[in-house]
Amino acid sequence: MASLGKTFLAIGCLAAVTACGESGGAAVQTSETGAAVQTSRSGTGATAQTTKTVETAETPTPAPTPTRTAPPAFTSKVSKVTRAQVPYSWRPGCPVPLGDLRMVTMTYWGFDDRAHTGELVVHKAVTDDIQKVFKRLYGWRFPIKKMERVDAYKGDDFDSIEANNTSAFNCRPATGSSSWSKHAYGRAIDINPRENPYVTADGSVAHKNARKFADRPVDAPGVINPGDRVVRAFESLGWEWGGYWSGTKDYQHFSKGGG
Ligand SMILES: [Zn+2]
Repeated sequence: MASLGKTFLAIGCLAAVTACGESGGAAVQTSETGAAVQTSRSGTGATAQTTKTVETAETPTPAPTPTRTAPPAFTSKVSKVTRAQVPYSWRPGCPVPLGDLRMVTMTYWGFDDRAHTGELVVHKAVTDDIQKVFKRLYGWRFPIKKMERVDAYKGDDFDSIEANNTSAFNCRPATGSSSWSKHAYGRAIDINPRENPYVTADGSVAHKNARKFADRPVDAPGVINPGDRVVRAFESLGWEWGGYWSGTKDYQHFSKGGG
């Protein structure tokens, strides 16, 4: 209805320029009600005063559509992964065939208090888990900085972490090890690596921007703390949190079945 009124008003303005003239701002403001459109078309001039009269009219018009709309509902989509989508993070010889990987494209809540769409590459066996947990995180408005394929960083884990990117699949060895990481199987995810750093047993953090988040608990947006609802959401689906490791702590890391 409102958009019909606007269209009508625009045509009216074209036909009778003098009736619209400087009052264009007021006319647009009032065009959301049928009454306002009528006023401006009558040629009496849609002054601010006229606008006020219209707004307080007794006509029980429904409230106009709010201009600030509610955040969108959570959506997610699972699709196959093509070679072109993972040029750096996958290669022949990885422990997971390309055909077993899936792209989960889904809504996440940003630190800017807005909804965004991100991508996570995971093993096909865990797509349901991922969608369930991230739907809950979104419902809690748990903020996530970024959610891009690690290929946006040429598969470089350090660069992805430095950019505070949330990511999952990456065919790489475990940090400080020669064996495959759970990420190489698409069964691990790192969330907000800046707020949730990898802390070695002696307390050092490789990323300067993450050092102030080295201790737990930390009361700050995007942080994962022992026993909190993020940890419990993953645990309920059989995922283990790296924050519970002894010695080294990996606060960003969740993996299906541990490791
Ligand atoms: Zn990890």
